[in-house]
Amino acid sequence: MDYKERISYLTDLLNKYNKAYYIDNNPIVSDVEYDTLYKELEQLEKDYPEFIQNNSPTKAVGAKETLSKTINHEIPMYSLDNSYSMEDIEEFYERLYKMFGKDIELTVECKMDGAALSVTYDNGRLLQVVTRGDGKSGEDITNTAYISNLPKEISYKGKLILRGEVFMPKEVFKELNRKRGEMGQSLFANPRNAAAGSLKLLDFKQAQSRMLEMFVYNLAYCDENISTHEEALNFCREIGLPVNNIFFKCSNLNMVENALSEIENMRFSLPYDIDGAVIKVNNIDMQRQAGFTAKFPRWAIAYKYKAQQVSTILEDVIFQVGRTGAVTPVAVLHPVLISGSTVSRASLHNEDEIKRLNIMIGDTVFIEKGGEIIPKVVSVQQSLRSDNAKEIIMPSNCPICNSPLEVIESDAKRRCVNPKCPALIQGSIIHFASRDAMDIKGLGEKVVEELFNAHLINNYADIYELKAEHLEDREGWGKVSAENLIEAVNESKNIPFERVLFALGLRHVGIIAARLLAEHFKSMDRLMNATINDLENVKGIGKETAVSILKSLKDENMNQIITRLKDYGLQMEYVQSNTGASLQGKSFLITGTLDKPRKYYEELILANGGSLLSGVSKNLDFLIAGEKAGSKLDKANKLGVKVISQDEFLSMI
Ligand code: NAD
Repeated sequence: MDYKERISYLTDLLNKYNKAYYIDNNPIVSDVEYDTLYKELEQLEKDYPEFIQNNSPTKAVGAKETLSKTINHEIPMYSLDNSYSMEDIEEFYERLYKMFGKDIELTVECKMDGAALSVTYDNGRLLQVVTRGDGKSGEDITNTAYISNLPKEISYKGKLILRGEVFMPKEVFKELNRKRGEMGQSLFANPRNAAAGSLKLLDFKQAQSRMLEMFVYNLAYCDENISTHEEALNFCREIGLPVNNIFFKCSNLNMVENALSEIENMRFSLPYDIDGAVIKVNNIDMQRQAGFTAKFPRWAIAYKYKAQQVSTILEDVIFQVGRTGAVTPVAVLHPVLISGSTVSRASLHNEDEIKRLNIMIGDTVFIEKGGEIIPKVVSVQQSLRSDNAKEIIMPSNCPICNSPLEVIESDAKRRCVNPKCPALIQGSIIHFASRDAMDIKGLGEKVVEELFNAHLINNYADIYELKAEHLEDREGWGKVSAENLIEAVNESKNIPFERVLFALGLRHVGIIAARLLAEHFKSMDRLMNATINDLENVKGIGKETAVSILKSLKDENMNQIITRLKDYGLQMEYVQSNTGASLQGKSFLITGTLDKPRKYYEELILANGGSLLSGVSKNLDFLIAGEKAGSKLDKANKLGVKVISQDEFLSMI
């Protein structure tokens, strides 16, 4: 290959795509296609730096605005480095760890899918709103942009330069496209394009009707003494600026991983589009020391949700009932290969999504799969619709128990509210026994279904009444498998309180919320007696979650179940994870495959007073190496770090 020519070709092509994307708000290729070409160029430039072009898109942010009123940014605006996997995040962390020689506190927040703006206030007044442009200069849109939640005046009188993302809420986008459709105008492809396109409207009334909103995500300049990113966001919030409440502070990579999956889980229920999450170093001095490359801060990274699109046929729609009773329409697809696996089902989320997609049975659809997310139908090729296409009709009765469904307008969901619905009960038992909850090995989906249908368990408390003799004579079971399950059930009685709380499956209580509640209330009894005020006072628990927790805990059935679980000997008191002291002051890292999930060993380490490091360094006391240990083991051997097996580790406790 002529590398010089290829570099020059890719440079021109990506610059063309940049203009279409950033200036015209009308991308001509998908992000995946763009990112693939971008990575190729980046690699070629690394290998053949002598051929790098002056106008290389890898060395500049966005695209240069060629329109009117371009002004220089007082402080340059940057893009973010991209990552698509936890390994990338681990590498990011390792780089920082090397730089600072100690563990680093990170924050995780939503990556809003809109457009970046720089906003300046002075003397309590909004002075300037400027687009990111090429990072050095952008377009002054102070008088044209209308951002509904950005105050013209604030209580703080000092000078402030803020960075934030302007976006169009999904609802507004839907309505805008509906109206444009009615008037025969072209539709916006997504809320991001609609937001970017609405920033420069000349008609103020029209701009106002676009209902753009903004979230401030960084404080680029401020005279106050602010030492962390968290403090900066709180400060902005306190002086009346819009800041997203979804925010996680993480002291290790495990917590980062959990935060990323919590954000990913809520992704589709948020009222705005996000295309990932952003991980940042919390300490601002450290941010300053880490600095920037030509394009990115070294102290932040975007974790993007992977997405690949392929087309197939929607053959049918079925309705599934989840453990919360929510009825989800599921697309039955003609099987198709995507991201290395065959897909024949995709979520259609809810009724609104069916309307938004304007989808019918028989349509040719594009589906997308990102990371671990269930594939979803992203668009319909309307032009290919046949005359035989059939309308999708939402059920008014539960497809499992036939009781009438409750329609919840606020989240466009139909919900089965029959507490005796087998789908709800089975779902809650599966969740209770799952790995992150009570981790009862051998009690997966199929076994739960079998035992439930045989009336051996009617709720998750019944699991603790199971005896080996109930199981061993059943088809497919034997003495050993029956005893193993009973042993796993008994072992689960040692699972810490915060996971018991998560296992209960209270609505809105994920792993992180459960930990926050456990740390705050310390025991089930205190939590059961909490008032709404007590719950709202827990940092990280919002009003909606507080109301929902209170309602669940006051439920008579739930009360009885909790009393039974207590009687069976489950952990109902919070134990500070470093009370066990046998590993006090010792640091650990795990590599390779062990016979139990890593989380199990990590919890053991923390519970016994040890600490976890995220990379191999001289500060590491022990590397626990399992099968197929790779580069971390090599590095530990090089640095003379003690390497131990899982058995050696267990003998230390
Ligand atoms: P980006 O969108 O990947 O990430 C950087 C931006 O994230 C920041 O500028 C900021 O505006 C935003 N952001 C949102 N929430 C944030 C938060 N909480 N904290 C910090 N920043 C936050 O970067 P980019 O340079 O704007 O765009 C590059 C990407 O855009 C490419 O990777 C590609 O996927 C896409 N792109 C696509 C095409 C195309 O033709 N399809 C062309 C150009 C770029």
